[in-house]
Amino acid sequence: MKQKQERSGLKNHLLLAIIAAFLLALLAGCSTAGTEAEATAEQEETKQPILIQGPMPIEAETFAERLENVEIEESGSTYKFYIGTVDDYPVIVSKTGKGMENAAAATAIAIEKYNPAAIINQGTSGGHDPELNVFDIVLGERTVNIGSLKTGDRAAGEGIEPTEWKPMDVMASEGSAGEDPNAEKARYYEGDPELLAAAQAVKDTYTKGKVVEGTIGSADVWNNEVDRIQWFHENFGTSVEEMESASVAMISKAYDVPYLAIRVLSNNKTNDGAYNADTAIANQEYVYEVVKQYISAMPHE
Ligand code: SAH
Repeated sequence: MKQKQERSGLKNHLLLAIIAAFLLALLAGCSTAGTEAEATAEQEETKQPILIQGPMPIEAETFAERLENVEIEESGSTYKFYIGTVDDYPVIVSKTGKGMENAAAATAIAIEKYNPAAIINQGTSGGHDPELNVFDIVLGERTVNIGSLKTGDRAAGEGIEPTEWKPMDVMASEGSAGEDPNAEKARYYEGDPELLAAAQAVKDTYTKGKVVEGTIGSADVWNNEVDRIQWFHENFGTSVEEMESASVAMISKAYDVPYLAIRVLSNNKTNDGAYNADTAIANQEYVYEVVKQYISAMPHE
């Protein structure tokens, strides 16, 4: 009886040893599989995201709704980032708020926080070109700050002459732009050629209007004087105006991040095109196609 017990005790030990060895082997296997999975996840995370900006909620939410695996992060009370993916590639939609300062701040924050591979600023705009209609889209071959101006020299009582105002390039030097004759020119920021190529490649997907290349003028001004609009069109070559694109261009350039502005006409004073908010949605649908195209054309490691 006792002998039998000892024997079965030995047997149990042997069994335990075998199970332990088996479990150890399994664990080792698992941990290698674990590191492999972790490495792929890390690779996914280190892919630099594409940043898509829209000033107003109606200019950002349509795209944000199309993202997968979304997490929302906020900076302050204005800047909202929808962090997700498109075709398994990281894409961040940023609601920047309206105007030049908001656009600049949202861009600098995004660059410092998320290190984007490319930035697209998109949204609505007002037409400066009578050939363009509400729902047409302008690809920002160039963007320019049309609020950056130097007035003529006029003494007290000599009045205000806006058509005499000259463009002013605050980036001409680090010295005083007021005293520098070299600063009396408009600063045009070129749109990134690869982003532009992606946008051009999917022009046909947009059926609500035409898609053209052009110059986007930005300032914290809403111009309703048709003569003034005409003046900008002639002197700055503007196709449309809005309140953000040139500001984002300046910050993107400062950090050397590829950048393109894509703006739909929501209104056009020069040909009685009435404001239509649905244009904001149409533009995001087009920009979504641009982003998919840009991702598919990216070099794969
Ligand atoms: N009309 C809108 C308000 C837009 S406020 C409303 O009542 O809800 C300004 C925003 O519209 C900015 O983000 C700017 O980029 C864009 N915008 C559209 N058309 C514009 C125009 N004609 N001039 C300036 N900004 C314009």
